[in-house]
This record gives sequence, structure tokens and C-alpha cells, in this order.
Amino acid sequence: MSAVQAAEPGASDGLLIEGVGHSFGALRVLTGVGLSVRPGRVHCLLGPSGSGKSTLLRLVAGLERLQEGRISIAGADVAGVATHTPPERRSVGFVFQDYALFPHLDVSGNVAFGMTERDQAARGRVVRRLLDRLELASLASAMPHTLSGGEQQRVAVARALARNPRVMLLDEPFSGLDTRLRDEIRAQTLEVLRKEGVATLLVTHSPPEALEVADEVSVLIRGRVRQSGVPVDLYARPESREVATLFGPVNVLHGEISATGVQTRCGEARGARRDLEPGAGVEAQVRPEGLKLGSPDESFGARARVVSVRPKGATVSVRVELDSAERLEVSELWPTAWKPGDLVRVGFRESAAVTVRVRED
Ligand code: ADP
Ligand code: MG
Repeated sequence: MSAVQAAEPGASDGLLIEGVGHSFGALRVLTGVGLSVRPGRVHCLLGPSGSGKSTLLRLVAGLERLQEGRISIAGADVAGVATHTPPERRSVGFVFQDYALFPHLDVSGNVAFGMTERDQAARGRVVRRLLDRLELASLASAMPHTLSGGEQQRVAVARALARNPRVMLLDEPFSGLDTRLRDEIRAQTLEVLRKEGVATLLVTHSPPEALEVADEVSVLIRGRVRQSGVPVDLYARPESREVATLFGPVNVLHGEISATGVQTRCGEARGARRDLEPGAGVEAQVRPEGLKLGSPDESFGARARVVSVRPKGATVSVRVELDSAERLEVSELWPTAWKPGDLVRVGFRESAAVTVRVRED
């Protein structure tokens, strides 16, 4: 495992962002932002509107001057307090949501635009290879206005790739496309970028999108990275309630550290934090799919009453109320026999991922 890791390209071959801070006048937009993207990987920058995502991308692209911190690409500092490499010399490609193709150039012309390769035959080969990869070969001489939204999008990606960038910045470029098309084009684009070994930073405000497509995710809230990690860590081991709720509902149960885990009203969740003393007051967070329901004569968990049963995509969301009036959400598979009014037991699933945090109240 470690031998394989050592052979892989490191973050220093891709994009490295350290301690970046930015203000527009009195408005503080980014504070101490750090993240890295290795070649061939996709890193999602996830955050609500106004959290500073586009500003960070503009700093990486060189469209905005860096005020604090450091940005390096393929081992070279491109932005620092005293360094500012101009955008065209940064080896960065970008596709923004409001990208525009050149209306007077055909697809090939758009892709070739800005290529530095002097030899015309070599240039043609690169363009053809990219059009092939993005399934645009049959559209090489089409004019932009005759293309569908998805085709235009792919041309914009091919154009950004033609300059052979080490880093690709995608600022919500898929959000203008309708759902099915978006999934397809996004998957295809990211596959090409991974194959080409480009370090990709993809901005999104959609948590499911980030979990689905990213190798790594950084959550940006009010200009700070609140948590970085692989998707499963963010979903199953969120470090704050704010990050937890971003990825869907989460149940919060008060509990106490026990010898083997954490004891709550719904029974014991095993394997909790070893750094806390038994008896310490904590809150345990568990997603709806980490809880299970059983008939009232079973002995696990706590007694509860079903309040509502609602379909939620592939699963059914069952809300229950404990004797203590606390409400919990449990995910069940279709079809479920539970209905409002049923008496049940509710407890932790064997496999539940439970996050335990010291109670602050
Ligand atoms: P996001 O892309 O996450 O929606 P932005 O980076 O676009 O967020 O913006 C972050 C904050 O910075 C917002 O409050 C926005 O209004 C402000 N902002 C962005 N660009 C400028 C600018 N050129 N001048 C002044 N304020 C700006
Ligand atoms: Mg933005």
C-alpha cells in the first residue's frame, strides 16, 4: 500500500493552496484556506452561494491578485505575496458556468484557439484527439450556434484541455444542463480529465454531486474550509453539525460515554471515542440509515411510536417519537410495513457510523 502511494504523483505535482485569505474592501471573503489536488484527481469545493468558491478559483487562475498565502502548480509558486504569474503562464484551464465559445469559429477552431503549438499538423492531431475523447469528432466543422447545450459544454472543456493544463478549474459548469444530460456530461468530462492526469478543482453547491463525483471534498463555509476528506468521511464522520446536516438529515441523541461505547436512550452505540472518560456527557449523531426499527416485543433500543412514513427516493423515511418526546428519523427499505401509530422499538444498527461529540450545553 505505502509503496503504491509513494509511486503515485503527490500533491506537489498538482495544485497546492496554502493559507489563502482574501478581502474585497472591508468584506472578508476567504480565511486561511488550504487544500491540495493531485494529478488525475477530482477535488470538489462544496459550499453555499457566497461562501467564496469562485473567488478561490479566480485566485488560482490568476484573475484576482493574491493577498495572503501561497498557490503552487506542478511544484512552481504561481501566486504569493510577492509573486503573480499571469493567467496564461499558469498551466491552468478553466470552464466557468457562463463560458462562451467564439461564435465565428467552428468547433475545431474553438478548440485550437490559444494553443501554443506552432506546427499546424501537430496542432491538428491534438485537436482531433480531444474531439475524439469528448465524442465531438463528427461536429468538428459545426458552428457553435448549431450545437446543443451539452455539446457546447464539451467543446469548452476540449478548448480548455487543448493547452495541456496541469490544473483544471470547473466553476459549476454543469449546472445549466438538465439532470440526465448533466450526469452524463459530467461523468464523461471528469473521466477525460482523470485520464489526462489533470488535477481538477470542481466547484459545486450540491452535496450529492460532491459525494458522487469527487475523490476528495472540501467544505467551504463563510470563507473557511470546515472539513476536507474523502466522501465517506464527510458523510459518515462529519466533524461538525453544520457539515453533517449539509449531506442530509442526522439524528442527535444525548448520551454518556460507557466502557465500550456511548450509552443513549436508544441503547449503546459501540466503538465510540476512547479519548473521553466514562460518564462524560456527549451527543451522538447518527444518520437515518444507522437506526433500525423492530416490533415492540423485541428488547433492543427504546420504545417509540411511528409518527409518519414517507417515501424518499430509493428508501422510506419513518419518523418515530420516543416516550421522552424526542423525534428520530429512520431509513427503511421499500416496501415497509410500518404505518403511523404503530408501536416499535428503535435502536442502532450493528454497522451504524456514529459520530460522538462532547456536549457543549
Ligand atoms: P461563491 O462562488 O461561493 O458563490 P463568491 O466567491 O462569488 O462566492 O463570492 C464571495 C463573496 O464575495 C460574496 O459576498 C460576493 O458578493 C463577494 N464578491 C465576489 N466578487 C467580488 C468583487 N469583485 N467585488 C466585491 N465583492 C465580491
Ligand atoms: Mg460562484
